[in-house]
Amino acid sequence: MPALYVVPTPIGNLEDMTLRAIRILKEVQLIAAEDTRTTRVLLDHYEITTPLISYHEHNKLQRLEDIFQALESGDVALVSDAGMPGISDPGYELITAAIEHGVNIIPLPGANAAVAALVASGMPTDSFVFMGFPPRKTSHLRQFVEALVDEKRTMVFYESPHRIRTTLSVLAEIFGDRPIALARELTKMYEEILRGNLTDLIVHFAETQPRGEMTLVVRGKPEDEILLWDETRVRAALAARLADGEKRSRAVKAVSDESGWDRRTLYDMDI
Ligand code: SAM
Repeated sequence: MPALYVVPTPIGNLEDMTLRAIRILKEVQLIAAEDTRTTRVLLDHYEITTPLISYHEHNKLQRLEDIFQALESGDVALVSDAGMPGISDPGYELITAAIEHGVNIIPLPGANAAVAALVASGMPTDSFVFMGFPPRKTSHLRQFVEALVDEKRTMVFYESPHRIRTTLSVLAEIFGDRPIALARELTKMYEEILRGNLTDLIVHFAETQPRGEMTLVVRGKPEDEILLWDETRVRAALAARLADGEKRSRAVKAVSDESGWDRRTLYDMDI
């Protein structure tokens, strides 16, 4: 019975292809690729001549039929631009549809930025949570981070250099000054892993222009963290909500719930 191979590709360094991944890409009859031009560079490097079809965010539903047609007569491989397909990349819909069609799914292990950053971070790896890309809109970002405030597991995020400053400041505002590792340009020439507290990275990126691909690994809430926030943190959280246009009553309730401060004191603060 034909199979759908899920084949990870390098996240920067072309050498991060396994021997098996190269063989499978040579043997399948079709490769479904997020961007055929990107994948063509990889295939040329490894002298792979298998036909390519595009499978990306905007055509992924229309393309299912073509891929299932191909699967009737032979194996197909799914690749994304970098790393593991389906991890913040197209793949999920194809894989679930293929399972429903009774297609055998064969995943190959390989390059993935989240796992590489996690193991290099020095944070606990026994239990972690992958959160993908945080939302872009600041109010949504804040809600997203607030929902994680009690998360004890190590958290892994993808982020772009354009949004990293905002994301770091919202993380610091809501989590307090937690340890973080930022893995930048993994497997590439300018690979760098910055470790410190959130405020250290905020200071770093105030002085340095953020560049390149980055993955964040943030320490979960320590078991013994004191629930009460200091006044600076309470004021910052309240001010941020009010600046976002939130009603005072709503903002006070939310900050009170998070911080342990009583509502009356928050109401009376001159913010
Ligand atoms: N499927 C990929 C994987 O398995 O890692 C992730 C694709 S997602 C569209 C791209 C994001 O992954 C980047 O914005 C960055 O956050 C992270 N990333 C990809 N390559 C990276 C690298 N070389 N170093 C650090 N982070 C990287």
